[in-house]
Amino acid sequence: MAGPVAFKIRVQALAKAYGEGAGSHLALRDFSLDVAEGEFVCLLGPSGCGKTTALRIMAGLEQASAGSVVTTPPAAGQPANSMVFQEHGLFPWMTAVQNAAYGLEMRGVGRREREARAMAFLGRIGLARFRDHYPHQLSGGMRQRVSLARAFVNDPDILLMDEPFAALDAQTKLVLQEELLALWEAERKTVVFVTHGIDEALALGDRIVVMTGAPGRIKQVVPVPFARPRDPAALRANPEFGRLSLEIWHLIEREAHAA
Ligand code: ADP
Ligand code: MG
Repeated sequence: MAGPVAFKIRVQALAKAYGEGAGSHLALRDFSLDVAEGEFVCLLGPSGCGKTTALRIMAGLEQASAGSVVTTPPAAGQPANSMVFQEHGLFPWMTAVQNAAYGLEMRGVGRREREARAMAFLGRIGLARFRDHYPHQLSGGMRQRVSLARAFVNDPDILLMDEPFAALDAQTKLVLQEELLALWEAERKTVVFVTHGIDEALALGDRIVVMTGAPGRIKQVVPVPFARPRDPAALRANPEFGRLSLEIWHLIEREAHAA
């Protein structure tokens, strides 16, 4: 009998070159990673190191030049993955509730049910009364809340997040991190979260995959020791947080200066 499957996502020896011949650019090299079911993994590295490329290949939006991505199949009827982007991920012509319900609409769920499910998540992140607002009527933080709600409403097997909080101010970012953790504690999705923020990776992740600059490779995988549920603001007063933050900074310092 086969043993238990130890991974949800298995990435093996991934490489990606953009362009052909002399003008080709190697964006990713030797990238291998197993992500366990229900695990929250952060991909951390300087700008241009291939984080988005790795995530898009995992999402099936981009073809690898070499290597493979295997994911264990989702439950019947469940989408394999949902992606959350830094900005501009919402449809400007749809209201908050329509945006949040979009994945369900694509799957043919009737209007009443999909709006009820979308409203449940909008309520959990404090946006119930903004249900009929369009994205341009919402603040940046609210728009990213709607993006989070949309991803969770869709109930995917895997959540792939590409710097979803990078454009937010420091306080809003902290609040959104708390809200994401609360949703994740309740739903326990398998998450790959791309960030260039060391504090953010330490606040959110079970493990941090530290990448080097071009061509992007994995430099080190750092386990995050903090117990859950976590409070991202309180964590900053933890001496271990400061120690790990400095350790990771030393791993990426040279490349961060070069980037
Ligand atoms: P990151 O998300 O870490 O900032 P990316 O994955 O976006 O990095 O990009 C990695 C490298 O690949 C960069 O040098 C970038 O310019 C290049 N790149 C990304 N997408 C493309 C593309 N579609 N065509 C050509 N080069 C690309
Ligand atoms: Mg990117």
